[in-house]
Amino acid sequence: MPGSHKRSLAGLQRVTCSRREHLIIVEYCTVMGRMPDTDREHTIGRSVEYTGVSLHTGKSARLRLVPAPESTGIVFVRVDLPGSPEVRATAANIIEGDRATTIGTGSGEVSVRTVEHLIAAIRGMSIDNIRCELDAEEVPMGDGSAATFVEMINEAGIVPQGSPRQEVVIDRPVWVSDGPRHLIALPYHGLKVTYVFDSDVPFVGVQHVEFEISRDSFVCEIAPARTVGFEEEIEALQARGLGLGGRADTVVVVGRHGYLGTLRFPDEIARHKVLDIIGDLGLAGPVRAHIVGIASGHSMNHRLARLIMGEC
Ligand SMILES: [Zn+2]
Repeated sequence: MPGSHKRSLAGLQRVTCSRREHLIIVEYCTVMGRMPDTDREHTIGRSVEYTGVSLHTGKSARLRLVPAPESTGIVFVRVDLPGSPEVRATAANIIEGDRATTIGTGSGEVSVRTVEHLIAAIRGMSIDNIRCELDAEEVPMGDGSAATFVEMINEAGIVPQGSPRQEVVIDRPVWVSDGPRHLIALPYHGLKVTYVFDSDVPFVGVQHVEFEISRDSFVCEIAPARTVGFEEEIEALQARGLGLGGRADTVVVVGRHGYLGTLRFPDEIARHKVLDIIGDLGLAGPVRAHIVGIASGHSMNHRLARLIMGEC
């Protein structure tokens, strides 16, 4: 029933990010400008579906988001496999990969690829409990960002639940380093992400961004930032069977002399790195910390997520 989920929301507010062509309208409840019930768990109001092409396999996939009871967490369900096996979205289930984030069961026979943008949308919209049913091995890419998943959650509605939210609170610095690359989690009262993208490509330069993460800032400033690729590596990636679903409008392609396509933000690359951090660290749970990333990527995100889960 259209709009029926709204009955469960108090103080409905509409947030419109209208300064870009990819209009996103988000409706949710606010109390005096702050997120409501931040100490309680949330799920979505009803099931919603989306079918699209996946970034790496280039194959079509149907994703169905389904409400889940309290304390379920984020669970993927491979409905295309016998018995519809489940994979919990936790850092302990990360399977190594440097171009995306794959999770799988202990022995790896059941896996789900490229979960990070969907997880980012789930965490960015403060959803704790949800089932993500998928009829393929890879999550569809949407428009290359998290905007499609934000719109799905918005369409489904956000519903508070009774259980208190179990946040992962960072109470001392935790970090991983690899030469000039660093990823640090510092104690903080909310979630803030700082990222420095350092490129020797002149027209890309150094991109430095910092965001206090709320539903508003996530939806308007982070979620629309798309995946990044370098023209010179695309052929090699595709030869390895990666990036087969990428299109000019779903990937920010850094060409030899300029971007191939129109940017949504001048610093879209750094913003997408923030999106990846929110998604990857979201596998450790709802994290309360100031995350600082310097030239870091998925594999460092995975290491920090595991470290946080082990230490907190
Ligand atoms: Zn990404």
